[in-house]
Amino acid sequence: MFYSLKSRLNYSLGKLVPTRFIIGGLKLHPATLLVELTNICNANCIYCGYRFMKRDKGIMKQKLFEKLIDEFDDKSGGDINLTGVVGDPLIDRNIVEKIKYSMAKKNIRNIKFSTNGILLQRIGVKKLLESGVNSILINIGGMDKETYKRLFGVDDFYKVYENVRKILLTNKSMHGKVDLTIVIKVISLEDVLKNKSCLSLKELAKECDARIIFDNIYDSWSGRISKKDMVDDMKLKMNREKKEPCSLLYNTLSIMWNGDVVPCCRDIDGEVILGNILQQSIDEIWRGDILKNLRRSFTKGSIPAICKKCEHYEGLKPLKNLHLFKKALRDGRSKVQNFNYKQKGE
Ligand code: SF4
Repeated sequence: MFYSLKSRLNYSLGKLVPTRFIIGGLKLHPATLLVELTNICNANCIYCGYRFMKRDKGIMKQKLFEKLIDEFDDKSGGDINLTGVVGDPLIDRNIVEKIKYSMAKKNIRNIKFSTNGILLQRIGVKKLLESGVNSILINIGGMDKETYKRLFGVDDFYKVYENVRKILLTNKSMHGKVDLTIVIKVISLEDVLKNKSCLSLKELAKECDARIIFDNIYDSWSGRISKKDMVDDMKLKMNREKKEPCSLLYNTLSIMWNGDVVPCCRDIDGEVILGNILQQSIDEIWRGDILKNLRRSFTKGSIPAICKKCEHYEGLKPLKNLHLFKKALRDGRSKVQNFNYKQKGE
């Protein structure tokens, strides 16, 4: 994966800060909310857990979304990722209104999402770029109609290719207002690099100051995707030993469209429900016993099945980041007197 100079710098300087200190501050409020605008998707990718999801489908109501944003803004603020658990955020016809609502808040720092780009035209490329969103990541399956269909399960290659060109050019005409990343999912890197559509897209992305990433590494979505789903050069990540807590448990909170809160996007059916945002506040859930015990379970060697089978896990390393350090410092300074963050085992 590609990392910008800014995030590499954040990480290098963050390495100097003791993890314990960052964790102490982050335990007060989450730094990022992953908000599932919808768990409906208009594709059916072979590498995604979506096709195994059993829970009810829906779109987050505006009222619930606003409650969430108001509370997050009021208590600490931070970043919002509209790719919550599964589903494509562009399915939600109110996405632009929801982004505008969030960005009008003082303490919402960044808003981003990833999409398959199929519905970019329906939402309106210019409208989306003007909404206040900071970054958009668009996934595209291969660089030809057949590969796209094989990877994404739908026949939309030409539509997406045109949508990607359009968003790149429109963003360029708006002086690169939004940070754009195009991820090309490949089944054969050699083939895709020779492909004419790919070469022309690479050229265009360069002209428009956007990023292109080639990706062939996947995880199993906690045991749902297996090696037999991998085609040609596609690879599954190794399951690593998990001796320290997962960084996501100190950093992000994932809110499903119906208000249920889960530890991360790999819990697609809500096996570990931390709470529900309709009945509890974000901070109550963040500081609640279920999440505390989940963090502790890593050092006690009793992690739930969803985490056991997960390769999305990265340990605490990603917390060593200057941006998170600053957030921890800010939150810690304002609230540390009222909150005992030194509980053993966390
Ligand atoms: S270990 Fe995996 S499933 Fe568990 S919280 Fe981390 S990313 Fe989610």
